[in-house]
Amino acid sequence: MASSQSTTAATTSGQHELLIIGGGVAGLTAATFTARAGIETMVINDGETVLRRNAHLENIPGFPAGVNPRRFADMLRAQATRNGAEYQTGTVTELTGSAEKGFTATITGGQASSDTEREADDESKPTRELTAGQVLTASFPDADYLDEFDIDIRDTDGKQYAEAGELGRTGVDGLYVAGRLAERYHQAVIAAGDGAEAAITLIHDNDIPFYNDWVAPEGYWTDRGREVPPGCEEIDPTEQRARQEAAMAAMQEYFAAPHDQQQRTFPSLVDDERNRLDWEP
Ligand SMILES: Cc1cc2nc3c(=O)[nH]c(=O)nc-3n(C[C@H](O)[C@H](O)[C@H](O)COP(=O)(O)OP(=O)(O)OC[C@H]3O[C@@H](n4cnc5c(N)ncnc54)[C@H](O)[C@@H]3O)c2cc1C
Repeated sequence: MASSQSTTAATTSGQHELLIIGGGVAGLTAATFTARAGIETMVINDGETVLRRNAHLENIPGFPAGVNPRRFADMLRAQATRNGAEYQTGTVTELTGSAEKGFTATITGGQASSDTEREADDESKPTRELTAGQVLTASFPDADYLDEFDIDIRDTDGKQYAEAGELGRTGVDGLYVAGRLAERYHQAVIAAGDGAEAAITLIHDNDIPFYNDWVAPEGYWTDRGREVPPGCEEIDPTEQRARQEAAMAAMQEYFAAPHDQQQRTFPSLVDDERNRLDWEP
């Protein structure tokens, strides 16, 4: 956890099965899958997903009239943590190690309770280290910390893209990449799907041979004399109703009022004469 030591003395503040670097659309979707698979998952995020700059998100599945992008980003994070992932803010500046020895990430910036507090930008906060057996990176547009590894990085227009192999693998054992960082199409649904794909690949690589994260009604497999497959669950009608009610209550809370966070814009426009940091849509 947080330490009061100086920025020069990194403290090892935790050991995790999986570190996800980047808590945007791809990283948080991946975290939901890995945490639900029982892999102890820590997400480190250094600021805002670019999705928060969108004005109204109209092409994400499941929202016929669109959705406020900041609300959607909040809900992605809530979904990951509700399913058991941990989340901290901070910037990963260095990554070393291997699947054999374990990976160590050096992190600067503070562990804010909310990424909108942007404490991750505060470099006076202590430097800390986290270790993990595996790493999934989705830190668009920053791949500087991957220098140590034999992964091609394409640098263009101030943005970096990391070469992804098949299904999110990188060619480095235990290290996966997803989302826009892997140069996938710049759409939220693609980033989410790509995060899920890399996560399921990682789950398979953890020796779970066949894996579907499904919730099915009671008897779906067992009434046919079959075992409930790994990652799947059967629930009875009472449990089904309880989950539906909890979901309805949560959605009513999320959408009870307009989102209170101001729209941010492209960083180079922020300090211009229109003072667009304070611009509201
Ligand atoms: C103005 C605008 C409007 C858009 N509108 C739409 C739209 O209408 N529909 C649509 O589908 N898509 C839209 N997009 C695109 C969509 O937002 C992206 O494709 C999607 O967010 C990519 O997801 P990602 O997880 O790869 O990256 P992001 O969601 O950006 O997440 C990357 C995360 O990594 C973090 N990070 C970066 N470096 C580090 C580091 N070193 N350490 C720790 N964390 C790090 C970042 O802070 C960020 O939170 C829009 C984008 C913009 C800019």
